Amino acid sequence: MAKHKTHYEDCDVLVVGGGMAGTGATFEARHWGRDMKIICVEKANIDRSGAVAQGLYAINCYMGMQWGENQPEDHVRYARNDLMGMVREDLGYDMARHVDSTVHMFDEWGLPMMKNEKTGRYLREGKWQIMIHGESYKPIVAEAAKKSADKIYNRIMITHLLMDEAQENRVGGAVGFNMRTGDYHVFRSKTVIVAAGGASHIFKPRAVGEGMGRTWYAPWSNGSAYALPIAVGAKMTQMENRIVLCRFKDGYGPVGAYFLHLKTYTQNANGENYEKKWYDQTKELVGEYIDHHPTPTCLRNHAFIQETIAGGGPIHMVTTEAFQDPHLETVGWENFLGMTVGQAVVWASQNIDPKYTNPELTTSEPYVMGSHATCSGAWVSGPEDLSPPEYFWGYNRMLTIDGLFGAGDTVGGSAHKFSSGSFTEGRLAAKAAVKYINDQKAEDIKITDKQCEDFKEAIFKPLETYQVAQNEITGGTVSPSYISPIQGLQRLQRIMDEYVGGIATNYMTNGNMLKRGLELLAWLEEDLEKVGAEDLHQLMRAWELKHRALTSQCVTEHTMFREETRWPGYYYRGDHMKLDDDNWHCLTVSRRDPKTGKFSLEKVPVYHIVDENEKKKAS
Ligand SMILES: Cc1cc2nc3c(=O)[nH]c(=O)nc-3n(C[C@H](O)[C@H](O)[C@H](O)COP(=O)(O)OP(=O)(O)OC[C@H]3O[C@@H](n4cnc5c(N)ncnc54)[C@H](O)[C@@H]3O)c2cc1C
Repeated sequence: MAKHKTHYEDCDVLVVGGGMAGTGATFEARHWGRDMKIICVEKANIDRSGAVAQGLYAINCYMGMQWGENQPEDHVRYARNDLMGMVREDLGYDMARHVDSTVHMFDEWGLPMMKNEKTGRYLREGKWQIMIHGESYKPIVAEAAKKSADKIYNRIMITHLLMDEAQENRVGGAVGFNMRTGDYHVFRSKTVIVAAGGASHIFKPRAVGEGMGRTWYAPWSNGSAYALPIAVGAKMTQMENRIVLCRFKDGYGPVGAYFLHLKTYTQNANGENYEKKWYDQTKELVGEYIDHHPTPTCLRNHAFIQETIAGGGPIHMVTTEAFQDPHLETVGWENFLGMTVGQAVVWASQNIDPKYTNPELTTSEPYVMGSHATCSGAWVSGPEDLSPPEYFWGYNRMLTIDGLFGAGDTVGGSAHKFSSGSFTEGRLAAKAAVKYINDQKAEDIKITDKQCEDFKEAIFKPLETYQVAQNEITGGTVSPSYISPIQGLQRLQRIMDEYVGGIATNYMTNGNMLKRGLELLAWLEEDLEKVGAEDLHQLMRAWELKHRALTSQCVTEHTMFREETRWPGYYYRGDHMKLDDDNWHCLTVSRRDPKTGKFSLEKVPVYHIVDENEKKKAS
């Protein structure tokens, strides 16, 4: 252990992950905590990290309140509808009422925003989206964070949260290692804001072999945002609500601008509107939800998946009409240049010019996120002025661990935040964290050297395991006494894929499959004690895998608990194929006991705050 130098840092606000939410948190923490010590720790480099690393072409969440375009209530109704009723409306409303101010700052900071030439307003792609030239989106928000923080640590992966030894259930910082130097870092902090993004690669991806790693979601998002809080016993919500995306095949290029701005549409191989064909069948499953407008994302996926199973594929996006207009053709291509250049390359390699050939679409493997058209994540307190008692325990966006806050993909129950909403939620969490400190809630935190030393030993163990066990390699990379991170990852992905509703089963699972999946995950957990890492990069892979595995257990437990199919098109419970509002119009909340590793689950009421308030006003 001596060869891994230990660095200690004491601070007030520690932000874990410098993506959209983390940069927002770092920026806002400085606004409220002028004299406080603010540290942001990032696994990559905040200039190009997280889901926005390569840029975006649209900001997907902007109300436009200054022009009366939308109100926060409208956004709550929209998110509620898209998630089949299951959202935390207090969190959604709170984000929506502040998101415009965030976008206006992006504009001031130099993010190139497209404007409607006639009205001078931001150019709308759809009701909620505004268009940007967003290649430099991430460096711009990173600059704001860099100017606000006392220090940004790049290339440090946080592996564990530190817990206060003086007061139960209170956080005291976090630890991790530098992936370049191999040094061990201890951050003792009064508050921690986890903003470490969602989880890709827990389900087996469509792209394997030569295309391995190509997914819709960022491959480096490894579920730390969930694993860190789960490991210390924080409550989680809606972890069953994994997301499946319908995107251009193989490159996963975005379809939003195509549907909304270019007005392209989909059809099956016979040129038919297949969505209509599945209307009656979907109504059987979900009742009136299929008549909602806009059609919930999962139900559109459902029609796609059913049509493909029935032999109607390939499904195409009809681009050949829109691309005859030179302006729309340019927008179509630029859309990829700003965020997914790879899609253009895939088309070139497959001889597809969308002006003359309609490109194919596909549905992705499932991902776990809290900020997109899905809302898995931590169970957090809402804002004082909006939240009913079950949803409020003192500080906005605080998890069920004192002093531990979350934002962006970390936070469950609040879908459709996207990049701007995640940054906004980071701001909200930071404001509350500063208040928590000012209220003297973080006094006398005790972190012993023993706690830090124990984590140090655990963190670097895979290097030791490899060093000893490499002598036993019998052939290639096969050793009788360790597994490599890639071997463990592929085993995890296969369990999730085959038992928990991945692409292998067309997103189908049931109680028996899930039970078996949990058994296999438990054995994997046991074997991950013997994961070996040959260098520091593999050490990162080992810890990413451990975080993915813990996240997967939680997803599986939740999927087992909810005995209905709430989101056909995201996954199916074959033993409970229908949506069941009588028994399951509720949020699911779990807690893993850190001592025993056992999960317990409960139902929590879902309050439809927005329209309830309006009904009350009317009566
Ligand atoms: C493919 C794709 C397309 C999208 N398109 C749009 C769009 O067009 N418009 C839009 O508005 N939004 C879009 N979004 C949504 C938007 O990107 C997310 O909502 C937003 O990035 C979430 O912010 P976050 O901070 O929670 O996660 P991220 O921005 O992903 O940041 C998480 C950060 O945590 C770091 N991290 C992870 N683990 C650790 C660890 N253990 N220790 C330290 N650091 C860690 C990561 O490196 C990363 O920097 C898209 C998302 C995806 C995946």
